[in-house]
Amino acid sequence: CGVFGIYAPSEDVAKLTYFGLFALQHRGQESAGIATFEGEKVHLHKDMGLVSQVFNETILSQLPGTIGIGHNRYSTTGSSRRVNAQPAVVETRLGKLALAHNGNLVNTVQLREELVNDNINLVTTTDSEMIAYAIAQQVNAGADWQDAAIQAFHRCKGAYSLVIGTPVGIMGVRDPNGIRPLVIGTLGENPVRYVLASETCGLDIIGADYLRDVEPGEMVWITEAGMASYHWIEQPERKLCVFEMIYFARPDSLMHNETLYSYRMRLGRRLAEESPVDADIVFGVPDSGIPAAIGYSQASGITYAEGLIKNRYVGRTFIQPTQAMREQGIRMKLNPLKDVLMGKKVIIIDDSIVRGTTSRKLVKALRDAGAVEVHMRISSPPVTHPCFYGIDTDSQDQLIAARMSVAEIAEQLEVDSLAYLSWEGMLEETREDTDNFCSACFTGNYPVAIPENVKRSKLV
Ligand code: 5GP
Ligand code: SF4
Ligand code: MG
Repeated sequence: CGVFGIYAPSEDVAKLTYFGLFALQHRGQESAGIATFEGEKVHLHKDMGLVSQVFNETILSQLPGTIGIGHNRYSTTGSSRRVNAQPAVVETRLGKLALAHNGNLVNTVQLREELVNDNINLVTTTDSEMIAYAIAQQVNAGADWQDAAIQAFHRCKGAYSLVIGTPVGIMGVRDPNGIRPLVIGTLGENPVRYVLASETCGLDIIGADYLRDVEPGEMVWITEAGMASYHWIEQPERKLCVFEMIYFARPDSLMHNETLYSYRMRLGRRLAEESPVDADIVFGVPDSGIPAAIGYSQASGITYAEGLIKNRYVGRTFIQPTQAMREQGIRMKLNPLKDVLMGKKVIIIDDSIVRGTTSRKLVKALRDAGAVEVHMRISSPPVTHPCFYGIDTDSQDQLIAARMSVAEIAEQLEVDSLAYLSWEGMLEETREDTDNFCSACFTGNYPVAIPENVKRSKLV
């Protein structure tokens, strides 16, 4: 999911939130929502669909206020329904709170039981709503906003980057491992205004400057008095999701002081060093494979060329394709360039293989377009384990690399050769301590323990 928050009296916060969400659209296409605070009053609009489908000028003009909280949803828990759209708005003793969540809790069964035992009536099916109610419960028991929130965070296990609005200010929070990203930006001077976004591309679009990341186990509290920081956990352990860096986040977003474009290009260079192959051209699967393909080309000296063109307007397709179209598969999204491919030995680069269904269809399409050899290179290791922290990889039995060796996958995809980036290579190129990442989908070493009942849902 994508989250955004802004505290900016005298600005059009609804519009700025809209544009922030627009830049974060890649993080969730299922539903979008904005809540604004006009003093004690909350204005809320949320619905299924893309940001540009859910909002228009008229709707935005009906969201006045000094605080904006926004959310793009990509469902990993709770069904794909309108009531599950965020922000979640909950009533408390100190007024309403609006909460936007990115990530996935793993202790929802227990938390739900606790809340239900306390006679809290949960409206939706999401873990995010439970966090909102857990905070409200503490507020109603007499705590102030900061203490109530911190007490609630101690009950949450798993991944959560949160942006929370209240009548007096906004909060930005990352879980003790900082599994999902969250950044702070500033807008203007005298007075300086603060912005929170899942990624720096959500700051760039509104002209905000990147200040710093919210740290794992940190809460920032932004009010008229400025920004205060609370380190609410004794020993935070940095475990940023490495898949954010490899695939999920936008290439123009900054992580560890460089754009992910540069990082992904380095993965491609490394891949060329580890797994060279003789070919005429190299290209990436648009869009996610392109930076690594450029890196591969630079390191190997093999010409970079576009072998596939992507339709820019594929997103959610509301009209189902015909059966014949469905069998053709990927053509809705990607079309091979015959003139480029005819008679060529090609290297096709992608960031990852999950089920292998896209990859298999792509290889066939490239051969149909005249490629004589198809070598596939993947700029991350084999995905062998499902994610429980908010990336929608399938259950383990759906993951091709959980069931097959690399040689068997190569045969299944009908490629002439296949190689993945090594795990060591990937972590070395991240240029941070290798312990500072979650890479459980490649190793099965989950940094936050997964309760047995949750494990059973996705692990074989
Ligand atoms: P596959 O060949 O496994 O069907 O598809 C691989 C493609 O899926 C890659 O291009 C990769 O960018 C993309 N991908 C990787 N992880 C995810 C994910 O969690 N969700 C979705 N929708 N796509 C993913
Ligand atoms: Fe990211 Fe994989 Fe860890 Fe999930 S399991 S948080 S996708 S690295
Ligand atoms: Mg892709």
